[in-house]
Amino acid sequence: MDLAIKLAGTVEGVRSRHGAVLVSGGRVLSLGVNKRRNMNIAGQRSPHYTYHAEQQALKGIEKPLHKATLYVARISKANSPVNSRPCSECYKLLVEYNIKEVVYTHE
Ligand SMILES: [Zn+2]
Repeated sequence: MDLAIKLAGTVEGVRSRHGAVLVSGGRVLSLGVNKRRNMNIAGQRSPHYTYHAEQQALKGIEKPLHKATLYVARISKANSPVNSRPCSECYKLLVEYNIKEVVYTHE
């Protein structure tokens, strides 16, 4: 989780700063941070849409995963961990990838 928090600290230019670390068998498989994008999956435009850290961490990873844990950190402007939870899009992705353990930061 420390790594996910550190990653979240590198995020700039978005309202909520997230970092995600995918771990399997004690090994870090991939990292993700959230990023700004201009369109959501329905093609609607808004300056506030982002690619979520969970999506970025799972990009290019073969599914399904077995015994993988995803650590997701959200931090405030003052760099302290705050509550995070998966949005419905990410939740679907986590189910698709068979990720049974997801650890989110909380205040
Ligand atoms: Zn999400």
